[in-house]
Amino acid sequence: MALLLPTSTAGSLPKPSWLAEPEKLWSPWKLEGNELIEAKQDALRLTLQEQIHAGIDIVSDGEQTRQHFVTTFIEHLDGVDFENRETVKIRDRYEASVPSVVCAVSRQKPVFVEDAKFLRQQTDQRIKWALPGPMTMVDTLYDAHYKSREKLAWEFATILNQEARELEAAGVDIIQFDEPAFNVFFDEVNDWGIATLERAIEGLKCETAVHICYGYGIKANNDWKKTLGSEWRQYEEAFPKLQQSKIDIVSLECQNSHVPMELIELIRGKKVMVGAIDVATDTIETPEEVAATLRKALQFVDADKLYPSTNCGMTPLSRQVARGKLKALSAGAKIVRDELTA
Ligand SMILES: [Zn+2]
Repeated sequence: MALLLPTSTAGSLPKPSWLAEPEKLWSPWKLEGNELIEAKQDALRLTLQEQIHAGIDIVSDGEQTRQHFVTTFIEHLDGVDFENRETVKIRDRYEASVPSVVCAVSRQKPVFVEDAKFLRQQTDQRIKWALPGPMTMVDTLYDAHYKSREKLAWEFATILNQEARELEAAGVDIIQFDEPAFNVFFDEVNDWGIATLERAIEGLKCETAVHICYGYGIKANNDWKKTLGSEWRQYEEAFPKLQQSKIDIVSLECQNSHVPMELIELIRGKKVMVGAIDVATDTIETPEEVAATLRKALQFVDADKLYPSTNCGMTPLSRQVARGKLKALSAGAKIVRDELTA
């Protein structure tokens, strides 16, 4: 029988301070050239060992080889000019200086495939690889070429599909697309967001996931959350169509959030990665707190479809806090697993 409640993380994990300045998004690398390549691989080995040591079942690269979950992928594409920057409002929330799409976008060579092969060599455990989703990519750029968010999203979906097929061939078990933008642009999600996501997973035989969260624990996101009221019902907008989609797994923020757990009922039938670790606080959850969140989720997800996870990436946290949270996650999952199999 497959392991019940296999644990995983949403994506990024803190980087060692010798690789990049810690607890910071878009943190610049501290090395260059071959030294940087080697250092990224060392960090990947380290983050893998930390996950295994903490009892995480579905492991990842902890995004050690990328500066940012969206930007690094885009950097490797043609058609985007990183010198030519414009200020845009990301996710309708905070302003950032972003690169511009100046002509047709394309992928000349694989972006993460070598990294994925390297991770595959290091472990026999199931591995999950995160890519940005088409809508979130569009939302992190200034588009001076297509002048249509939808058109650009379809182009990115084609490119993501090329990358995903090669990641699958490299031995990745679960390919995850990060779509925090799904919590903001509801009309677009239903018009073309989910459709472009399905284009990105076309032809894949491995499992596929979409991660939808309320963002990293940075100030702009925390301030935004304060405006959302006591009940966060954003998921309600995308879930019905997502339930009908070909995506296998939906990764959600549930710990300390104001998302009513019963919304998960709307994606009944899907596997659900339940965020049982809050990434916006340094307070480490107790295993019992994790277990309580999982038990609540079990009212709406069948036990064989529940995957305990983190609310979002942990890159802005200290390594020590992240390690504590990973341990709490697996200890909490164990409590509930034992209850289910007793
Ligand atoms: Zn997230």
